[in-house]
Amino acid sequence: EGKRTRLCAAAGSVAPLPRLRVLLPLPLASAYDYRIPEGLAVTPGAFVAVPLGGREVVGVAWDGDTDPGLPEKRLRNVIAVLDAPPMTPVLRRFVDWVAAYTLSPPGAVLRMAMSAPSALEAPAPQSGWRKAAAPPEGVRITPMRRRVLDVLADGAARAGGELAEAAGVAPAVLRGMADAGLIEPALLPRRPRFAPPDADRPGPELRPEQQEAADALKASVARRAFATTLLTGVTGSGKTEVYYEAIAEALRQGRQALVLLPEIALSSQWLERFRTRFGAAPALWHSELTSRTRRETWRAVAEGEAPVVVGARSALFLPFPDLGVIVVDEEHETAFKQEEGVVYHARDMAVVRARLSQAACVLVSATPSLESATNAQTGRYAALHLPARHGGAELPAVEAVDLRRDPPERGRFLSPPLVAAVTETLARGEQAMLFLNRRGYAPMTLCRACGHRLRCPNCTAWLVEHRAARRLQCHHCGHVEAIPESCPECGAAHSTVPIGPGVERVLEEAKDLWPDARLLVMASDSIPGPAAAAAAAQAIQDRQVDLIIGTQIVAKGWHFPHLTLVGVVDADLGLAGGDLRASERTVQLLHQVAGRAGREERPGRVLLQTFTPEHPVMQALVSNDLDAFMAAEADGRRPGHWPPFGRLAALIVSSEDERAADRAARDLGLAAPGGEGVEVLGPAPAPLAILRGRHRRRLLLKTRRDIAVQPLLEEWLAKVEVPNNVRVQVDVDPVGF
Ligand code: ADP
Ligand code: ZN
Repeated sequence: EGKRTRLCAAAGSVAPLPRLRVLLPLPLASAYDYRIPEGLAVTPGAFVAVPLGGREVVGVAWDGDTDPGLPEKRLRNVIAVLDAPPMTPVLRRFVDWVAAYTLSPPGAVLRMAMSAPSALEAPAPQSGWRKAAAPPEGVRITPMRRRVLDVLADGAARAGGELAEAAGVAPAVLRGMADAGLIEPALLPRRPRFAPPDADRPGPELRPEQQEAADALKASVARRAFATTLLTGVTGSGKTEVYYEAIAEALRQGRQALVLLPEIALSSQWLERFRTRFGAAPALWHSELTSRTRRETWRAVAEGEAPVVVGARSALFLPFPDLGVIVVDEEHETAFKQEEGVVYHARDMAVVRARLSQAACVLVSATPSLESATNAQTGRYAALHLPARHGGAELPAVEAVDLRRDPPERGRFLSPPLVAAVTETLARGEQAMLFLNRRGYAPMTLCRACGHRLRCPNCTAWLVEHRAARRLQCHHCGHVEAIPESCPECGAAHSTVPIGPGVERVLEEAKDLWPDARLLVMASDSIPGPAAAAAAAQAIQDRQVDLIIGTQIVAKGWHFPHLTLVGVVDADLGLAGGDLRASERTVQLLHQVAGRAGREERPGRVLLQTFTPEHPVMQALVSNDLDAFMAAEADGRRPGHWPPFGRLAALIVSSEDERAADRAARDLGLAAPGGEGVEVLGPAPAPLAILRGRHRRRLLLKTRRDIAVQPLLEEWLAKVEVPNNVRVQVDVDPVGF
């Protein structure tokens, strides 16, 4: 350190050193200025190590002017430039754009783009073994050693594990051979980590309407200009095959492709199809990658060696040098919304990234969001539609079961018509599925003696019984406790009873009703990761399962050829509560679940158990007229300027101290912006009024579409001093409210 300072002081006496703006991956208000010492060449976007307090931090040489008002002596020197591909101008602009739109510190967004500082380290070259150039004479060559030497006969180096496996020997044999001088360590050649997908491998022959849609997408990609297309079509209509053609076109152009999937862990079938179509696996990007894979993938993307990336929303921040197309599959899914840290919607930001990259953006869904459907209607997005299922498969017939007329037996949850339908389906040797979007055994537990309901100590939420694990669990904060022997309120012994069903309870009922059926539960507890999901899907495809019982995991894009019946245990579940999009989301989810039935020759049937068969949601599903439903939704939202016909932002005020939360929320309410086309609702308790021990209040800012919310929010927040024990989180375009 001392040496460096001397060097710079000397240079400073001649002429001031050039200055550099460096954005650090930290939630700071802005970029910091540094000096570039002599002899250091810094290009824009370069990753640089700089001092910050007593630490050394890696940041990025950022755009914009340094502050000439900063005195020379306040500035510190850049320490080093890292050996990593500089961040592209497009990605830098994207980071700035997302920060400005979400009102997040740019450094917090940069952090996502750097994924983890360790991602920048060049992957260490790997070492393996090769045949010794001059093996000593007279060493005993056992048959095992002979096999190793045979594998190495071509002179190439092999990784240890691979070599031992190929030769069928234990790793200790290799060590022995190295000690004896028969083999020697050698660096392995750097292999491209991702084999290039072959765009020109023939895919399935597309139907005329698929071909037409594929041609339109291909033309959009070939134009090398930004455009967004909404690709719709019922489940099973062949949308995936169509957007594969857009990916193929980007590859032919030598550009990269990014596909965002809402649940990458549940995408084994998708990946398998991709491999079949393109002859190689895509690069994967999600939160569960090992740090090494993360590092290698990040590099490969930056160096253009990962032609196709499939990922969760965070993949949007990867350093693609030349992105040709972004596909957002199941664009309506709320999983694309990130609710923690930088609060952003990956679907919307995908459109922005595509615009900055001069790339095509393709949004795909059988049940598009009202946002995207409206954008397609107004012509902001191009629209492509596939009207029918592939192979002439019919859409399933959807019927509502009126639970008021056909109630289940006492203590049961499956109605006689649903039980009969499952029995018939199983008798025909076909598969059935029961869908209930609730994990665990029972969503609530109460005391029979005093009526007390067991609540989470940290949240405004009931504790959910997980009977198999013998415990109660909060699905919001993760709190876990044993099922109490006696009521914590009145002390009555063994008085607690489960109220309502979760998938475990439906499983119990199914075991009783169909003792010979082979059952499989698909919920996040029983399907903890990609491997388990893939295994479950395979078992279903191979007909090792008769009846599937699952949460929303089963609603994903699965293709189960033998599944012909879907029963929705509680179709009303998502409709409770005051959420603006409750109906829209329920239609999307249930349509998606229904779409699992009858995907091949045999027709599918769907039964919706409901107390409100007259509800527009049930009507839309039964008549399969989603367009009419969405039109009615739009009509409901237009007059009040609700999204997408107006803009909305939420402020969530939270504190462990309830009075502090209330006071801050009240102060914000008093300072609320107003005027023509601007409205503030609240403060009111947030949907989860207490979460993880924090009391939460909410204010909603609603404006006309032509009024941006960001300047209003900035001005508003600047007016109110919020104490340290209160947090105010800004959520632009909130989804769950
Ligand atoms: P979607 O994405 O609209 O739900 P998919 O692309 O998954 O529909 O197609 C449904 C099924 O039909 C898949 O098994 C797919 O492989 C098959 N399929 C779609 N288009 C074709 C085609 N042109 N030729 C052969 N099979 C097709
Ligand atoms: Zn809780």
